[in-house]
Formats: sequence, C-alpha cells, structure tokens
Amino acid sequence: MKLATRTTRIVPSPTLNIAATAKAMVKQGIDVADFSIGEPSCDTPAFVKAAAQAAIQAGFTKYTPVPGIDELREAIIEKFHQDQGIRYEKAQILVSCGAKHTLYNLAQALFESGDEVIIPVPYWVSYPDQVRLADATPVFLQTDESKGYAIEPAALEACLSPHTKALILNSPCNPTGTVYNRQTLEDIARVALRHHFLIISDEIYEKMHYDGMEHLSIVSVAPEVAPHTILVNGVSKAFAMTGWRIGYAAGPKELITAMNHIQSQSTSNPTSISQKAALAALTGGTSFFAELMGDLEPKRNLMVERLNKIPGIMCPTPIGAFYAFPNVAALFGRRHPKGIISTPSDLATYLLNEANIACVPGEPFGSPAHLRFSYTPTLETIHRGMDRMETAIQALA
Ligand code: PMP
Ligand code: GLU
Repeated sequence: MKLATRTTRIVPSPTLNIAATAKAMVKQGIDVADFSIGEPSCDTPAFVKAAAQAAIQAGFTKYTPVPGIDELREAIIEKFHQDQGIRYEKAQILVSCGAKHTLYNLAQALFESGDEVIIPVPYWVSYPDQVRLADATPVFLQTDESKGYAIEPAALEACLSPHTKALILNSPCNPTGTVYNRQTLEDIARVALRHHFLIISDEIYEKMHYDGMEHLSIVSVAPEVAPHTILVNGVSKAFAMTGWRIGYAAGPKELITAMNHIQSQSTSNPTSISQKAALAALTGGTSFFAELMGDLEPKRNLMVERLNKIPGIMCPTPIGAFYAFPNVAALFGRRHPKGIISTPSDLATYLLNEANIACVPGEPFGSPAHLRFSYTPTLETIHRGMDRMETAIQALA
C-alpha cells in the first residue's frame, strides 16, 4: 500500500510508546518502576467525577456544539480573566479533545509549506511532528542548560527568517521544568512585536511551580502581544484528568474560527460528558491545586536527591511541571555485558531491560545528553526505582 508521504515525516509519540511498553511489561507480571508518562498519579477530584455521573444520568450524552458548550466556554473566559487578566469573547474560545488536539488543530489552521515555526530546545516531543504534519518546518532554538534553558533574545532573533510564522512557548516546560520569568517574557514579546510572528503559549503546567516561583503568562506580562498570541491549556494536568481529553485555546477570532472548522470536519465536539466534568473542574474552586502540589513537591525533592547521589548523573532541581531531566552524558562510554552506553536511548534501554525502570530518553525532546523521569508515581516507587538505578549504574564498567 502506498501511504501518504506525510506519514513518513513523523514517528509515534515516544512518551506514549514507552508508557505502553512499560504497561505491557507490568501485564506480564514484571515489577516496573514506571517514570515514563507525564500524568498526575492522584485520582480525578470526586466533585468532577460526580458532575460527569450527573451528566450521564441526565442524558447529556449527545452531540454538543462543535467548539464546546456555552457554559464551558464561559467558564474558560472567566478562568483566563482571573488567571491571565485578559477578557476574551466567546468566539475566541475553542474546546478540543485534549491540548494535544488543540495544538494539532492550531497547526493545521495556521501552517503550510514554506512556513517556519521556532521551537525552543528541549521541547515536548509532539511539537516538531505536528509542525511537520502541517507541511511546515520546525526551526530549533538552542538553549543552555547552565543558564536554566532560558530563551535569550539574540538567539531568538538569530532563528528568524522572512518565513517565520510562530514561536511555540511552553512554560512551565516539559521536559526541563523551566518557568520563564518576567524579563524573559518581556524580551520575547518585544522580539515578536518587532518581527511580526505569532506566539503559541502552551501553559498546560501552569498550576505546577515550586519554591515560590510563580507562573506568568506572556499575555499578562505584555498584554500588547495578546492579539498575536494563542493560549493553549487544558484540564489534564491541573485536575488529574488526562483520560477525559479536554483541552482549550484562546486567541484571535479568525484563527479560532478556522480551528473550529477543522474540528467540525474531524472529531466534531469533544465528549459531552467530559465537557460537564471540565466545567465542574474549572468552576469548583482552587483547593485541589494545593493538594496536588502537596503531593508533588516531596516527590520532586526525593527524585532529584536520589538522582544526584548516583555518580555520573547531574540533575538540576526543576521549578515547574513534574519532570526531572538529569544530564547523563558522563555515563557515555561505559559498558555492560550486552553493549556500550553511547546515547540517552542506550541508557534508557539498558535501564528498562536490566533494571525494569521506564524513563524517556532525551533524543525525542531534542537532547543528546538527558533522560526524563516523571516523578508522579508514589514515593515508595521512586525509592524502589532509584535503588535499582543505583545498582544498574554501579554495574556499568
Ligand atoms: N503540552 C504539553 C507540554 C504536554 O506535556 C502535554 C502532554 N500532556 C500536552 C500539551 C497535551 O496534553 P493533553 O492532550 O492531555 O491535554
Ligand atoms: N504529555 C505527557 C508526556 O509528555 C503525556 C504523553 C503525551 O501526550 O505525550 O509524557
């Protein structure tokens, strides 16, 4: 069969792939310490589940308007007003089947052959492939680990060309945990306004920040870029709702309308029941976030402490999201009975096969030197996984 060439430009999501391998191993009875998938381990809040059950009982199980029910879009308007200080109109809001779907609609509506899209490195695995699926070209903006992966205005300007269409920002960042400060966001806004490119701001980890660092949206810091910015968010991370598949966007009316048209010809509305659940989440108060961070912070501290105790591993303390992103380059060149460790993928494969530890190698995030560990599993799993990791790394010759 001759498949469309676009299928040859992409690979399946590496994060989802490794998570599936780990789950299959667990099914075979193997005790895997699984740090692969990025999702909160706590349950979806009870009041959210109750809203979904009520929706089912009330027969709210049919098609809804394609861009989402009015009440949910109004709740999203309220959320952006409260959190980001911008009041959008309803026609500027689109609800989709997860933030990944939001970003996909966005890429399809905005990019085409010849367009360049700037993606800071390290990046979330799906950004470059979504750009490629839209026939456009990702342009990688290198950042420096020793400077906390901050975007520097001169480096950003060096990536620009007459074909630059947009910059994808992700703060707090998956995989580095970087949270952009006010100065960085002001600098980026200034460059964007001067050179007329759009900003796609993926803020899905906005509720996850530590050590007094606050999340700032570029539209709050520099409201003058709001007309040129698309905010992407969702309930997956903030409310432990990854399986419910609700993400949303706010942005220029023309673009949101085009995304809505693509959605109406592909998925139609996001699930009716999940929309009611998301409505409950967004209107149910903020107490859940404290609970979530109370769960995550000790896990972050333990994971970073344990990783840094292993000779050859250097792990900065992430200040946002829920990933540890240790540098493992010092281990390259070490050997085990079946081969040599030359890349993050070699190390991740060794850890999975020999120590039953699932983590994601750095390459699909654009890094040749790191591994990514999601530290959302229990403290006990982190201890168990890190005990095994210590032994596995010590066994390398
Ligand atoms: N953006 C980033 C940076 C992510 O890590 C993820 C993965 N959850 C998403 C977007 C998509 O999230 P979802 O589709 O579950 O809303
Ligand atoms: N975003 C999460 C991660 O990076 C979930 C998997 C995915 O959608 O890629 O692990």
